[in-house]
Parts: sequence; structure tokens; C-alpha cells
Amino acid sequence: MKEQHNEKKSDVEWRQLLDAETFNITREKGTEKPFQNAFNDHKADGLYVCVCCDALLFDSQHKYDSGSGWPSFYRPEPEDSVIELEDRSIFYMPRTEVTCLSCDAHLGHVFDDGPDPTGLRYCINSASLRFILRDTA
Ligand SMILES: [Zn+2]
Repeated sequence: MKEQHNEKKSDVEWRQLLDAETFNITREKGTEKPFQNAFNDHKADGLYVCVCCDALLFDSQHKYDSGSGWPSFYRPEPEDSVIELEDRSIFYMPRTEVTCLSCDAHLGHVFDDGPDPTGLRYCINSASLRFILRDTA
């Protein structure tokens, strides 16, 4: 059964809970540096949860090396763990933003150049994620 989260907080509350980089990325839609981030090259077997609210977002079984410099997944886990929103912040490059269903944290973007079976690439900031080894999850 899916756990029901309701983890909405104000920016003032999040600023107290998160370090400056995590706040910038998850609450102000920042983007961390490619390659120089925690999970781009991370291959351990386990689960990726939201750094803000601990909701399950991705499974390492769906992670692949996209070459983009950010951790990339071809689907979320469970599939309804994220919300996809139109992002027109770069006017000539409409993108689809991905946020946490439970707490609205900005996670990254989804593109349609991913591998089978979905053809999708969820390009996610490491700073939005916390990793839990499968044995201990
Ligand atoms: Zn969250």
C-alpha cells in the first residue's frame, strides 16, 4: 500500500531544515554541477528517496549512465512518486520539470531521449536525493 505523505512546508521552514545548496536546488529550482555531484557515477543497489521528505522516488534498478553528468533514471519508483510540470523558464527550450509528489521539491527534468522500455530520461539532481542501500531499506 502506498503511504500517504503530506509534507508541504513553507520556504521559511525548509530554510531551517536544509543546507544552503539543498535549499537552492529543491526549493528554488537550482541545478547542481554536472559530474561533480554525489550520485552521477553511483552504482550501488538501493533506493533513492527525497532529501526533503524521505518519500521513495527512484530505484537503482532503473538508473543508467546517460552521459549527462547527472543521475539518470528511465522511470520513477513508484511511478506516481513524482509530478511533471511544464517549465518555460528558458523560453526557447520548453522542458518538463519533475517535482516530488509529497513535498513539491524540485528534483530535475524529464526528457524523451531515454532508453527502453520507457524512452524517458529523468535527469535528477543528486542534492535532491538521499540513497538507502537495498539491504537496509
Ligand atoms: Zn519530497
